Parts: sequence; C-alpha cells; structure tokens
Amino acid sequence: MFDTKYDVIVVGGGHAGCEAAAASANLGSKTLLVTMNLQNLAQMSCNPAMGGIAKGQIVREIDALGGYSGIVSDKSAIQYKMLNQSKGPAMWSPRVQSDRSLFTLAWRQKLENTPLLDFYQEMVVDLIVKNDQVEGVITSLGVKIFSKTVVLTNGTFLNGLIHIGEKNFSGGRVGEKASFGLTKCLENIGFISGRMKTGTPPRVDGRSLNFSFMFEQKGDINPSKFSFSEETLPLKNQKSCYITHTNTEVHEILKQGFDRSPMFNGSIKSTGPRYCPSIEDKIDRFSDKLQHQIFVEPEGWNTHEVYVNGFSTSLPYDIQFKALKSVQGFESVKFLRPGYAIEYDYFPPTQLFHSLETKLIQNLFFAGQINGTTGYEEAAAQGIISGINAHQKHTTKKPFILGREEAYIGVLIDDLILKGTEEPYRMFTSRAEYRTLLRQDNADERLTHKSFKIGLASKERLIKVEEKLKKRSKLISFLKNKSFTIKEANNLLANKKENLIKQTDKYSKLLARPNISRVDLNCFAELNSFIKKSSMDDSIFEQAEIDIKYSGYIEKEKRNANKLKRLENIKIPPSFDFDKLASLSLEAKEKLNKLRPETLAQASRISGVNPSDISVLLVSMGR
Ligand code: FAD
Repeated sequence: MFDTKYDVIVVGGGHAGCEAAAASANLGSKTLLVTMNLQNLAQMSCNPAMGGIAKGQIVREIDALGGYSGIVSDKSAIQYKMLNQSKGPAMWSPRVQSDRSLFTLAWRQKLENTPLLDFYQEMVVDLIVKNDQVEGVITSLGVKIFSKTVVLTNGTFLNGLIHIGEKNFSGGRVGEKASFGLTKCLENIGFISGRMKTGTPPRVDGRSLNFSFMFEQKGDINPSKFSFSEETLPLKNQKSCYITHTNTEVHEILKQGFDRSPMFNGSIKSTGPRYCPSIEDKIDRFSDKLQHQIFVEPEGWNTHEVYVNGFSTSLPYDIQFKALKSVQGFESVKFLRPGYAIEYDYFPPTQLFHSLETKLIQNLFFAGQINGTTGYEEAAAQGIISGINAHQKHTTKKPFILGREEAYIGVLIDDLILKGTEEPYRMFTSRAEYRTLLRQDNADERLTHKSFKIGLASKERLIKVEEKLKKRSKLISFLKNKSFTIKEANNLLANKKENLIKQTDKYSKLLARPNISRVDLNCFAELNSFIKKSSMDDSIFEQAEIDIKYSGYIEKEKRNANKLKRLENIKIPPSFDFDKLASLSLEAKEKLNKLRPETLAQASRISGVNPSDISVLLVSMGR
C-alpha cells in the first residue's frame, strides 16, 4: 500500500501535527499525516478558544508565516475580543471563542485541499532507525512506511492515563485510546522521558443554566480577525460568554472529596500546569479566597453544550456534580461530561536542536505537547517550525530558526531548548524581553518576508505586507510634516479638557500626547481627506499611532536586540571542547557540554553560564 517513500511523515493530527503537515506539504515535500483518528484533526481537547494573552500573538505569527491556525480560528469563531486594551500595545492580545466542531472541520477542509498531503489513520508504535538516522515508522498493524524525515507530535496520548476520582483508565483524551509503544522505542534509543499532567472541567447543558444570575461578556463592538490574509472576514454576529463565581458552600462540598482526589491521595504524581490549576488546587492553595471566577463559554453556534472554564477538576463525579449545583446559575445543572485529569509521557526538550530536530537521531523532529508545553498555540507554533525544518533538512537547506527578537515562537523554542521545562510550559508576554517589538499587529511585517524567502508564505501575502508598509510610512510622514489648524486643535483639546494651545504644530506632536488617540484626530478635515484619498484602513493608522507614541521604547528595544544579534552571529563549532578552558566554571562546563549551544548568544542564556564564562568563550574564540 505504501510503496512510495515520503519526504516527511507527521505522526499525530493535533495542533502541532496539522501545522507541521501543512507547512512541509506547502513547501513541496511529499507528506503523510498518520493519526489515530481522522475525525478529530486539531481537536480542541480543552477549552473552545484560540489566542489570549501572548497566545494571540503566536497565532498571528503562525498566520504571518503562512500557517493555517489563524484562518481556521477566524472561520470557526463565535466571539472575538482584543484583550488587555487598557494596557500598552505590546500587551494587546487577540482571542476568539470557537465553535469546537467547526474548528476541526475547517482544519480538515484546509488540509484536504493541500496538495502533496496524504492521510492515514492508525497508531504508530515504532520507528525505523538505521545508523542513528530515522527512516520511517511502523504502525500497530505492522505496516512499515518509509520516509526521509519523521515529525512526532503525540500530544497527551503517550501512555495517557485518565483520572476521575478513585477511577483511572487508559486514554489519550476522554473517549480516545492512549498511544503505546513509542515511548519504549524512544527510551531504548537513549531518549529521556518524563511524566506531566493536565486537566479539564466538566461540560454541561446550557439549557439547564440560569444566565440571568450571571454577568454577560459580549464580544468586541468592532471585531477584528486573526488572519492577515484575505481568506477570512471579521465576524458579523457573535455569541456571549458569561461570568459567575464559586462560593464557600461550593468550596466545602469540593473539600469533602479531597481524600478521594487523585491529586491529593498520591495517585497523580506528575506536575500540572502552574497557571491553569484545578479548582481543588485553587481551594487548597488559596484557602483565604471566598470565591473563584467561572467563565461560562458556549461550545459553538448550534449546540447547547457549555464549557465551564475555571472549574477544571479530577474529583469524583458525584462531588463535581454536587459542588457545581451550588454555583449561582447552576442550581439545575445537567452534566454532559465530567471533568478529568490526564497523565502522559513527554520528552525534555533539551534533547532537541533549535530546529526541533533531535540531537540523538538525525531527521527525527519533535513538536507540541510531547516537548513539555501546554496549549494549542504553543503546539501549533512548534508544529509549523518542525514541518518547515523537516522540509529544509531533506532538501539540505539551512534550518529555519526564529530569534527571540523576531517572534514569540523564537522565545518559546529558545526557552525550551536552553532551559528545558519541568512543568507544562505556556507562553506569557513576560517571557519575551523584546515584547514591544513582538506585537500582534506587526507579526506580518516581522515574519512574512522571511517565510516567503523559503517558499512558504505566498506572494499575495508578501505584496499585502509591502503595501501596508508603504502606506504606513506615507501616513507617518504626513503626520510628522503637516501642521494642524489651531482652531480644530483647540476644539479637540477643549473637548478633552486639556490646556489650549497658541501655536500650531505637527499632527505627530498631538498624537504623541497620552490622552489623544487616532480616533480623536477624526476632527481634522485635511488629515481625514488624506486618509480617505490614500485608502488607508484603520489598522494602518493604528500602527502609525503606535510608532509615534512609543517610538522611544521601540528604538531602545531595537538597539538591545541588535546587541544580542552580534552574539548570535558568533557560532560555536559543534566539536568545541569546553573542558579545555581552565577558566570556565565547573557548572558552565557541565551545562555547555549537556546543551551544546550553537551560538554565543544561546550560551549566554543558559542558567549557570555567567557573563564571566561568556568572556572566557569570547577570548578563546579570538574576539
Ligand atoms: P494533541 O492535541 O494532544 O494531539 C495529538 C495527536 O496525536 C492526536 O491527534 C492523536 O490522535 C495523535 N497521536 C498520538 N499518538 C499517536 C500515535 N502513536 N500514532 C498516531 N497518532 C497519534 N492546554 C492548555 O493550554 N490549557 C489547559 O488547561 C489544557 N487542558 C487540557 C486538558 C486535557 C484533558 C487535555 C487532554 C489537554 C489539555 N490542554 C490544555 C492541552 C492542549 O490540548 C494541548 O496542549 C494541545 O492539544 C497539544 O497539541 P498537540 O498537537 O501537541 O497534541
């Protein structure tokens, strides 16, 4: 059946696998996606939402590179919100509430329309490896499929064990089989594995809830969208989410189940996501809190199913049900599915290069939750990079690596490879030292050109970015060179209760004021007519405003990023002997030998490698 040898085999059709398969096929590699269930491509195992703080930036970056997550998110969105708008633009983060079924369907349609991509439904249990190089996979039916490269994206499925109270059973996600064989195969080769856990809340029937007791959360009045492409449009209709709270009665009921909880009775030993704790964890750790917020999120356009965000739990079913009935608005709740926790195997990501290829076996790549991350966006980001690099590898091209100053995706992968992770890793804006540069609005400007150069982002995308840049610099030049009329300015300032002015000045001076926004500048006739004549949409004016208001910060970060680049350009030869340098600290030698950084900048980010060690390395390299 598989008489052809593939260029790339992607194992797993989750968020990482789907992006990996799309990227490698779109680059021209003959690709096979092998997954355990083709009905569940890019299944949202947990909450029906994409984006959010720092994650929204990642989705924009994937889209700018030519990935599908942004387009699929737009096609399946039921609500759009730009989070953190009260803060500076570096913090603005788009998020959509998704129709869970539509999301999977949209992914399937995109992938089925991707030339060079084949599909096969089965479990991969073993790898074909010769002379430390992967040559294909073996499935549970004993089918051997050969390929030049393999990308593993097994998510939460490797030896997955599901817990609900005292009950536990094998599974990769509720209702789906766990994956066996691969962990053993990888351990036999010499890979180190670990165990992590995560959890999910119950789903309930929305018809049994009393929403009038809850606070309604509507979507944005002028919703935007994720994708920079023309393929999607902003939402016209949106669905609301709701907020309610737990209370002391709920907490008391939950505590009655603690001795039967796998979290507290020792059944679960692995570490869960710190920033997504279960409700029992929250009650235990923050015992002084009288209530916790619950977001009541619809699961789609045409279903009554509701996701109870904030109530993730692995307590026994009866306790989950009883406790939820005491939440305001949930008095008559009908359960559709209980919450549960899952433990699974992962492989510490320090075993990978920045390309996501493994250090032990050539042409083998890992992406997604298998690398110790959590979240759809983090998985999809690694997926697209692994798919690109699998293609680059078998076509003997340079690996595609994004720097920390170029993308959140760069920060994510650099953190994983150089720091590793002992608990599920999720992205935050605070992890990115250059976050003023890494904004959601400029992801296309940062990445589309780079992706076009390797053949992934389309010409249309590139033209769109170039037009946007041209228009923006035309607008900035207008704002910096043209003066406003005193009369119009003073009308605006009087309205804003600001001191009036006696002399005219450039528009940019007015826009640089903290209390004046681009929307306020609508009252200037000359500016308005310039914008209309040049057919500039609001996103261009928004970027011009950010450039003018935050130019000081942006320039400073650019200078710092350039300094980092200089160290990034100093390569450490793969055979470099750290032990011969007597002045290197013992800890630095140990870490450098273990992680084998490829550049001096990477070496400088390893914990335990101090500035003095970097100086020693610089001198030894003749700098
Ligand atoms: P997955 O989405 O898990 O996909 C793995 C894919 O690989 C599946 O399609 C599977 O069928 C396939 N597969 C596995 N093994 C094989 C094999 N041997 N052969 C063929 N195919 C195989 N994220 C959060 O950010 N916050 C949360 O609170 C959160 N809670 C979660 C709760 C639960 C119960 C679960 C299961 C996940 C949760 N997640 C959460 C994690 C989120 O779902 C994952 O981060 C994300 O789905 C990972 O994407 P992935 O592509 O790496 O793997």
